[in-house]
Amino acid sequence: MIQHRFDELRLTGALPSPSAIGLRVLEITQNDDYDQAELVQTVMADPALSGRVIQLANSAIHAGQATVETVREAALRLGSKTLRSLALGFSLVGQDEGNRGGLDHHTFWSRSLATAVAASTLSFERRIFAPAEAFTCGLLAGIGQLAFASLYPERYERFMGWDVCFHDARLAKLESCAFGMNHAEVASLMMEDWGFPKSSQQAILRSIEKPIGDMPEGSNSGSEGLARILRAGRAIADVLTIDRDRGNELWVTAFFRLEGVAKELDMSVAELHAIADQIVPAWQEWGQLLGVPSGQPVAFVCTAEEFARLGVTASPRQLAWDAPGGSPGDVNSSEDEDPKPLEVVSNLKVCEAQRVLLIDDEETMVRLLSHYLMKAGFEVESASSSKEGLRKAISWAPHIVVTDWMMPGMTGVELCRALRETPVGQRMYVLLVTAHDDDAQILEAFDAGADDYIVKPFNPSILVARVRAGQRTVRMRQEVENAKRIQQRQLADMGILTRKLEQAALTDVLTELPNRRYGMQRLQQEWEGCQRTGNTLSVVMADIDFFKRINDKHGHDAGDAVLRQCADILRQNCRQGDVLARLGGEEFIIIHLNAGVSEVVASTERLRIAVEDAVFVHLGASLKMTMSFGVAEKIIQNDSIDDLMRAADGALYEAKESGRNAIVAFRPPGLNPDQRAAG
Ligand code: GH3
Ligand code: MG
Ligand code: MG
Repeated sequence: MIQHRFDELRLTGALPSPSAIGLRVLEITQNDDYDQAELVQTVMADPALSGRVIQLANSAIHAGQATVETVREAALRLGSKTLRSLALGFSLVGQDEGNRGGLDHHTFWSRSLATAVAASTLSFERRIFAPAEAFTCGLLAGIGQLAFASLYPERYERFMGWDVCFHDARLAKLESCAFGMNHAEVASLMMEDWGFPKSSQQAILRSIEKPIGDMPEGSNSGSEGLARILRAGRAIADVLTIDRDRGNELWVTAFFRLEGVAKELDMSVAELHAIADQIVPAWQEWGQLLGVPSGQPVAFVCTAEEFARLGVTASPRQLAWDAPGGSPGDVNSSEDEDPKPLEVVSNLKVCEAQRVLLIDDEETMVRLLSHYLMKAGFEVESASSSKEGLRKAISWAPHIVVTDWMMPGMTGVELCRALRETPVGQRMYVLLVTAHDDDAQILEAFDAGADDYIVKPFNPSILVARVRAGQRTVRMRQEVENAKRIQQRQLADMGILTRKLEQAALTDVLTELPNRRYGMQRLQQEWEGCQRTGNTLSVVMADIDFFKRINDKHGHDAGDAVLRQCADILRQNCRQGDVLARLGGEEFIIIHLNAGVSEVVASTERLRIAVEDAVFVHLGASLKMTMSFGVAEKIIQNDSIDDLMRAADGALYEAKESGRNAIVAFRPPGLNPDQRAAG
């Protein structure tokens, strides 16, 4: 039934999919005894991917090591599994869909990357699973959501209410009701399509099942171990990616969820916080590499210490998150109950800024002010001591805090100072209620970070007016922050665009081979390398014989098809490490590193025969083609790239003159050309 539903989804053609190169990398690295050379060659076929691979090998993660310059060296340093993750990430993450089905592209991939980095770090630390595989599974675990969001954007958007999107089991239930399968099932079938091992697929299915709690001995291995790592990775990713402006309570909940996660991994929560702190820089680095900004980092150990100092603990309501079938704000929901549609919360909405926290040790005062503020439409919570007030301020995240100055324990001014030291507290509007009216005291209040003050006794309607003024200020601050975020988003979009343009600028559209620009840049680069090292290099100019006749006789489309097929044959028959590019028209260049003329002529012979033997098919017509090749080696006499290209061109001309379907190598004047016309 599920397989059937999946086949239907696949037929829509809208499932996310890695690029051809990404898929090929996956294919090659499926077996442990894959061919390293083939992998390197595949990566090199994508100039932009090659660039990222070299960049990662030289990045801060590998700081202190010698700079690498080639994909081969980079592949050795990174290992094939990391290379696979990068190829996959690069080819998937680059497909910017903007905001579809309530899933924002950046947030989605930022969270997936955080899950991936967290899963691989945890599996390394806990020795539970192969880190590189944990990374890939972490990256792909949410891909089913992306599939739903692009297939059913309107319906899916309704599921993306902010309290469910971070709660996998509940979301899965909603999805099953609506689409007949859940995102983990989709992800696992997609991974089956891409040739991932059964254990990874199983782990993704199990990772959304109810977790948390002690596991029996030996359950660390296999898919159960990986499932636990994935759950943990996702919990850390939540803390890193939940938008705190949309509700601090959700974020605090996510933070306390790590307690359950630590238990599941059989470690202390302090250990988990310390590991999470290591994850943050790696996540940011991957984000930069793949063009997904990673937002505000979180300092886990510091936050935990801060919470301990302030006495902030998880409320029963927050802990209900992990109870069977529970979700925040929905403590009573049971397993069998049908999920209800959820309210949609727009991403960058400026909220009403109406939560007011009243802190006063005088009960009558609290009651009186609550009454007036609630009547004016505010949502009010109160605390009867400064300590309780501070705790509530951190976990409830009010927009406005109205606090009395004189209270036992901490004074209102001290409370204000403590609030300003926390990230959430910095955003609040603090109104101090004071009995003093002398300048020194008022200056002290502003110094501590208060936004406004009101002197007792006061008319309650004046207080309401002051709180309203505070509300306007908070809204304005939010607007400024939103504008800033939109600007950051636009900058990030430009980053992705630039990367796409970079890639496009170096790739030939018709054949998908690297283009002339890439070929010539690469030749320049390799030439300079040879000048330094004294190594040699050779170039081959290749040109299709009588190509114009194909166009004339069968039309331009047939000509294009022949060009594409020719490019494929050359690609498949080049040696690893050779650089192949389309120079334009029906001309190609192949750069051979560290190879002299006779070696290159021998390997070009393979290309010549492959083209000669191939049958080119277009719209039912079968055509035969041949190619001619001119070879030249970098020697002392040619002291520029132009000389080398001219030599190869001259040899190609001779090959054509000799009757075509031939290879001619340039020999310095005085020697006869090494001529091998086919028979
Ligand atoms: P020779 O054996 O001497 O190389 O003969 P030829 O016909 O292959 O060479 P010529 O340079 O006379 O013709 C090349 C033709 O290739 C001319 C041009 O119209 C065609 N051509 C160039 N680029 C493309 C392309 O992208 N698609 C198609 N269909 N034709 C192209
Ligand atoms: Mg030609
Ligand atoms: Mg030509």
